[in-house]
Amino acid sequence: MRIPTMTDVLRARTLIDPILPRTPMWPYPALTASTGVDVLVKHENTQPVGAFKVRGGLTLLGQMPTVERECGVVGYSTGNHAQSLAYASSRFGAPCTIVMPTNPNSAKANAVRALGAELVEFGTTLEDARECAEKLARERGARLVSAANEPELITGVGTLYLEVFEQAPDLDAVIVPVGGGSGAAAACVVADAVAPDCEIVAVQSAASPAAHDSWRAGEVVHRPNQTVVEGLATGTGFELTQHIMRERLADFVLVDDDAIAEAQWLLLRDAHTLAEGAGASALAALLANAERFTGKRVAVICTGANASERELRTMSGMP
Ligand SMILES: *Cc1c(COP(=O)(O)O)cnc(C)c1O
Repeated sequence: MRIPTMTDVLRARTLIDPILPRTPMWPYPALTASTGVDVLVKHENTQPVGAFKVRGGLTLLGQMPTVERECGVVGYSTGNHAQSLAYASSRFGAPCTIVMPTNPNSAKANAVRALGAELVEFGTTLEDARECAEKLARERGARLVSAANEPELITGVGTLYLEVFEQAPDLDAVIVPVGGGSGAAAACVVADAVAPDCEIVAVQSAASPAAHDSWRAGEVVHRPNQTVVEGLATGTGFELTQHIMRERLADFVLVDDDAIAEAQWLLLRDAHTLAEGAGASALAALLANAERFTGKRVAVICTGANASERELRTMSGMP
């Protein structure tokens, strides 16, 4: 498999720049006070689909040959990867089919349909959805898009980290939420090229530690996948992203789902920012390891805003 380079990231940026404005990154005095760390929040929650993944989808679709694009793409996802592919497909006029496990987060399912993609509900796990997507892609001659073993998704997401280091060239650490690992792999590729002294720290939920355990073991492993935090939910590590993270990641930490919910609330209160669980997990990792980051300048990536209606009601104290 081809390892993405900084040159690929720069090429992705020329493709994305005319489509997506760069997202802001801000310090919040209240958040600095409650964490004791010089923390900056990178706002991928402001993307048109509410998550950073749109950068990868646009890069993948934008670089597909026209004939291939006309045959369409098939993806499987519990949410944001689906919205990213649906958005990019509609942007580039490609047919898009998304397979989700049955009874998906209705906000995410509706968003996918509203973007013009066909939504297929199948099975109970993401693994079931993947098998169904593989079959559909074969039948339709469409391009199957994996959740993480895709170089274009990594290079597209690399544009996020290029922005981070342009906005704050003096960072000591960047904390990145991990599911399949495309985001953390992208951070590694870019930091290696433009911020060699900056540590990249990954975070996953302790209830779904497959990527974390794969990184520690030095090989892809499977683990129970029990987190309620959608973007971080995976039962396996992925070869490509693990390979990149192995070389460059400074550390990989785990946080409990409860700590993620607490960080979601802090972002809402102190940074006026609505994050889904995954989008708050980098802040949760910072809070759980505060002494390690004291006196340092740290960026936390707020990767997404697509909280379910249940999460929204819980956060606001509504029944
Ligand atoms: C997908 C996702 C993640 C995890 O990203 P990977 O690139 O799969 O590791 C984190 N946060 C949100 C909001 C996501 O949608």
